[in-house]
Amino acid sequence: METNNKRLRVAIDGPAGAGKSTVAREISKRLGLKYLDTGAMYRAITLKIFRENLDLADLESLSEMLDSTAVQIGTDDKVFLDGEDVTEEIRMSHVNELVSPVSCISLVRKRLVTMQQKIADETDRIIMEGRDIGSRVMPDARYKFYLDASLEERAKRRNREQLKKNMTLSLNGVAAEIKRRDEIDSNRSDSPLTRVADAVMIDTTGMSFEEVVDQIIKRIDN
Ligand code: C5P
Repeated sequence: METNNKRLRVAIDGPAGAGKSTVAREISKRLGLKYLDTGAMYRAITLKIFRENLDLADLESLSEMLDSTAVQIGTDDKVFLDGEDVTEEIRMSHVNELVSPVSCISLVRKRLVTMQQKIADETDRIIMEGRDIGSRVMPDARYKFYLDASLEERAKRRNREQLKKNMTLSLNGVAAEIKRRDEIDSNRSDSPLTRVADAVMIDTTGMSFEEVVDQIIKRIDN
């Protein structure tokens, strides 16, 4: 539990497609919290690895790359990789396929967790979402939530989002992709996706977006 009363830190974790980003973004607006999508940071590093065709086992090259790479989250949640706006590209399938294997690498996690903790330290009010926020990045967060939903529902939501962006994966293709990512994310040795004991579990299957937001807001004393 955080002790500084001024501070309001909210951690949201859960598997792919559980609605964490849309829900966290809405709560950040309503409660005036800074919002940080940590998955976007893993995606940006993954894009760099993809572009440079780096070998995931070559830790020396990965370390050099991390030393010389800038990942920034700008206003409107735009994501910049070495100054280039990669907001759209990090959601594409070449990044989806590689991001979970990249996120298993402790070297990568260590760098990003340090950045995330620095961002959290720079503000009193933040909502952060990812896989290890309640367990690793902000273990002292005052509020922790774990959002889940059935695989079918999560795949449908992702599919709807992707259709809006003219991405053409089938529903089965989306389900297979998020299932594979969940398996890797849940079974890695460093900070696996897990529900910590002090997180409130919300199964959003069959719930509307507003219902999920309300469920969280009513528990937060800001
Ligand atoms: O949240 P999103 O689905 O965009 O995250 C993409 C991937 O980044 C996840 O599947 C996971 O491998 C990794 N990730 C992570 N830890 C976080 C956030 C994301 O390992 N805190």
